[in-house]
Amino acid sequence: MSIADNLHRVRERIARAAVSAGRRPEEITLVGVTKYVGPLEAAELVAAGCRDLGESRPQELWSKFGEVASTTGNAAIRWHLVGHLQRNKVRRTLPLVSLIHSIDSERLLAAIDEAHAKFCSGSTAKVDVLLEVNTSGEAAKHGLAPDVIEPLLAAAPRFSHVAIRGLMTMAAFEGGEAVAARNFATLRELRDRLRTVAPECVQLDELSMGMSGDYETAIREGATIVRIGTALWTI
Ligand SMILES: *Cc1c(COP(=O)(O)O)cnc(C)c1O
Repeated sequence: MSIADNLHRVRERIARAAVSAGRRPEEITLVGVTKYVGPLEAAELVAAGCRDLGESRPQELWSKFGEVASTTGNAAIRWHLVGHLQRNKVRRTLPLVSLIHSIDSERLLAAIDEAHAKFCSGSTAKVDVLLEVNTSGEAAKHGLAPDVIEPLLAAAPRFSHVAIRGLMTMAAFEGGEAVAARNFATLRELRDRLRTVAPECVQLDELSMGMSGDYETAIREGATIVRIGTALWTI
């Protein structure tokens, strides 16, 4: 088995899960999470055809961004930050990422808005972000409580440099597939309800949910982005 074989197998399972849920495989973006590997393995994944890469720690993303780019030449890579972002790391992270999955406070949203206004003033594009929701209630998890999302969306028009594209969650560690399915359904139902009340500037099209152990379940529950690490690197 190689990384390319793993990618092929994961893509097949994504396609099968999509079709059996009455969805199109192209609706689902696979983000290859590189946190367990070095830049060479990450570059191998890019060469195999995966153009969306994710990191959970900002400093790791900063270093891999350059290292992977220098190995893959001009492949158009979209980097995703999937883990917690500290406000003092916003400025250096913004120019490198296509999507930040892990907005877990209004203060972070405000810091991103301010940094984009100050340091990316030449750019008309907004910063694409997802709000991370703690759907499992596990205390160890980052993420916003489901009931604070609506007031946060109401405040979104004040952050004119940020585009909220959807929601992200991680399933509970405990409880297996049934609990994961419930957590994912919670995110989808929250999104469906918030769509009817969110300000016009907010488009909640994306649901980032599902990792190596539960991505097929997440796709059944409506995931548009799955974040996969382990299943790609285990050889
Ligand atoms: C590590 C990580 C993943 C990938 O997890 P695997 O189980 O290795 O697929 C996905 N999302 C986040 C936020 C992570 O930190």
